[in-house]
Amino acid sequence: MSLQDLIPVVNKLQDIVTATQVSEIDLPILAVVGSQSCGKSSVLENIVGKDFLPRGTGIVTRRPLVLQLINVSSEEDHDLANGNLNKNKNKNNDSNANNNLSNGNANYSDDQSSINSAEINLEDHIRKLHGGAGGSKSPTEWGEFLHIPHKRFYDFHDIRREIENETMRIAGQNKGISRLPINLKIYSPNVLNLTLVDLPGLTKIPIGDQPTDIERQTRSLILEYIASPNCIILAVSPANVDLVNSESLKLARQVDPTGKRTIGILTKLDLMDQGTNALDILKGNVYPLKLGFIGIVNRSQQDISENKPLEDSLFAEYQFFAKHPAYKAISNKCGTKYLAQTLNRILMSHIRERLPDIKAKLNTLMGQTEQELASYGDVPGLDDSKEARGVMVLNLMTKFANAFVNSIEGTSTNDIISTKELCGGARIYYIYNEVFGSQLAAINPTHNLSILDIRTAIRNSTGPRPSLFVPELAFDLLVKPQIKLLEEPSRGCVELVYEELMKIVHSVCSTNIGPELSRYPKLQSKLIEVVSDLLRERLGPTIKYVESLIEIHKAYINTNHPNFLGAAKAMSIVVAERQKQKQLESNSKLRLASERILTKKRQQQLEENIEEQSEEEEEEDFEAEIKSVDDKLPSPHSHQHGRQLSVHKADSTPNFHHQAISPPQHQQQQPESYLNYFLGKDPIVHQQQLQTQAQLNPIPFKFPHPQENTLQFNSNFLNHNHTTSQPNLIDEYTSKMNLSDSANDETTSFESDDAINELTEREQLECELIRRLIISYFSIVREMIQDQVPKSIMCLLVNYIKQHIQNRLVVKLYNDKLFDELLKEDENIQAEREKCVELLKTYKEASRIISDVV
Ligand code: GDP
Ligand code: MG
Repeated sequence: MSLQDLIPVVNKLQDIVTATQVSEIDLPILAVVGSQSCGKSSVLENIVGKDFLPRGTGIVTRRPLVLQLINVSSEEDHDLANGNLNKNKNKNNDSNANNNLSNGNANYSDDQSSINSAEINLEDHIRKLHGGAGGSKSPTEWGEFLHIPHKRFYDFHDIRREIENETMRIAGQNKGISRLPINLKIYSPNVLNLTLVDLPGLTKIPIGDQPTDIERQTRSLILEYIASPNCIILAVSPANVDLVNSESLKLARQVDPTGKRTIGILTKLDLMDQGTNALDILKGNVYPLKLGFIGIVNRSQQDISENKPLEDSLFAEYQFFAKHPAYKAISNKCGTKYLAQTLNRILMSHIRERLPDIKAKLNTLMGQTEQELASYGDVPGLDDSKEARGVMVLNLMTKFANAFVNSIEGTSTNDIISTKELCGGARIYYIYNEVFGSQLAAINPTHNLSILDIRTAIRNSTGPRPSLFVPELAFDLLVKPQIKLLEEPSRGCVELVYEELMKIVHSVCSTNIGPELSRYPKLQSKLIEVVSDLLRERLGPTIKYVESLIEIHKAYINTNHPNFLGAAKAMSIVVAERQKQKQLESNSKLRLASERILTKKRQQQLEENIEEQSEEEEEEDFEAEIKSVDDKLPSPHSHQHGRQLSVHKADSTPNFHHQAISPPQHQQQQPESYLNYFLGKDPIVHQQQLQTQAQLNPIPFKFPHPQENTLQFNSNFLNHNHTTSQPNLIDEYTSKMNLSDSANDETTSFESDDAINELTEREQLECELIRRLIISYFSIVREMIQDQVPKSIMCLLVNYIKQHIQNRLVVKLYNDKLFDELLKEDENIQAEREKCVELLKTYKEASRIISDVV
């Protein structure tokens, strides 16, 4: 067995370590050590099987030569030759490995390479022709120097010349040495991935440019290389010099005292004095070395000068030992061939040492790969029965449906519950409570409704006759389009929930059933499709229903609703406000001054009260903000309560306006039709009625001339523009209230003062009244819609889907004819599985190789 016999094994193992990411099998470095001209370079050359190192008398090796042998397959060599330099993986090429030292056929032949390479392109062919015509140099082997990157030396004589030149360049012409190594890589299909180091020889006496401490310097340089436990020391000693004087053995003992990695090499056996031999040394009787001594006969200087082929000299060496009287008995343990075998053995045992690690790693990897393989599930057997496939489809369907329902109900335990954003059911409740709720709250009940619109409606509803009372018809007419305002957000609410459900459908695949489902992309997309269809089907009916809810509220305006403000109350407020204004206008400056002080106090008190009251309120602040001050709903759920209270306070405070009409004491009484108020049927508001009539004089219930008696206060009241020349705190208070009103009620939509001033006082009164009623009524409907829409959506969309999803899936997908298509595996998964199978095969093969090695 020779070194080259290791190539396939090492290459296979190298493949294993590459595949398994086990650390490289770092084969030992071989370093030759010895005195000047003892034959180190010659030994190394013989090991490599190439004529390429400078040898000769005198000091030749003056820089360390780090020689890296790199095994390349001839196939890969073509890739490299074609410029694909990125490939550096050492491939095994068994057939090339028969070129080895043992059969003496060290030169690689071109013919063999062409036999081995099935694919040779034209370029290769031409190159081969030229190379072949050129003679002995095989383009499948070449050298590269680190100091001349990318230049390939196909001629090994050129390599030798370059080593010589490079030595000169750094170490000078005159015998000097340098510790700077020359790095040479030899690429060949016939070499083992080994690193060999040729070192300068040990000398005692400095010559030429050598420093006085040349011995010490060389020694430390050599030690640098051989100290590594991974270095096998080839301690060369010439047989024609007494072993006692061997410098190499002395050095080797320093770093390898037990001699377990030192091979003794005796060169120049042919040059020993006649009648003497080194048999005792070779038998190990003189110097103990575990790896023993090997006798070698290298080419003599004459052989070198005559360019004696390596094969010939190997043969001559063989003959020397076989015929030598002293050595013939141990001739099988002598010579370069035996040295190669010994190195082979050492390398092999080194490899074996690494095997347990590789084996363990392999086992782990096999386990992991098997697990991964299992995660892809069994290869879907085409021979599976219809029933089995049906069960599979049904099973996945059910899981999908359950995952969907769980996601809505928020019970999906296996999901990573997102803490960043709401998902599933929580999102739906968020839509109801936050999105829909605030959208409704933001609606201005008198949106797009100007005072003039109201007046026009009133005029139209009274027909040609002058109206006797504020017509109910006008209110009816005006409030309906306002109710319609609720439709848009309601429909939007349905759509948002619908979109959310759609998102849930798609996100189901990223839950814990995801991996299982992802195997069957077709089934997955079909599941999504069917549920999406079902959802889409329900969208229309749900929206329709929600729209009908709005229609229903438009269909009948129930002014008897218990929470409705009622005309009497509305009127009393309007009248009180107006009276207040009038009163203030007629007050003297002095009065105003004292008023101011009083009011200030009052206001503070009032504000405190409001604050107190507000704190008691359990209603959400923002909702209270939204609502109008005008609304006065006794319901505990009334959002307007806070505001209403403030009005109430203001109105019911006796000292608030000295001469203002006290609001009725029974404000919280059940509302009554405002018709009653005008017909004077209500004793409670009788007082107010009288006042109102007095204000509406001379002819009640009849339009006065336009421009006549226009209520200046209304422009103040309705707008926050002060037109009075004497602003006061009450004014300010009122306008403040209106200012905040206007933010919500869009008083801005009310026309300019001019437009309002065109109205008669009575018209203004009526308009304001109706405006307040609209706001009150709208709030009632809004509240109901806010309650009814989510309920409808839950019933008609969310719960419906939850109840029907499973059934729908079965109806649409549980079908013999679909199974094959639905259970078609994802190609990526197939590929992954195949990759796993391949890997497992590689690992098993690797395991087998390792067992073979051992
Ligand atoms: P290094 O300085 O240790 O590298 O020695 P070389 O390999 O350069 O050899 C020095 C000289 O000794 C060369 O001229 C070789 O031809 C010669 N030489 C080396 N080994 C032998 C051997 O075994 N027999 C003979 N006859 N000459 C040898
Ligand atoms: Mg040398």
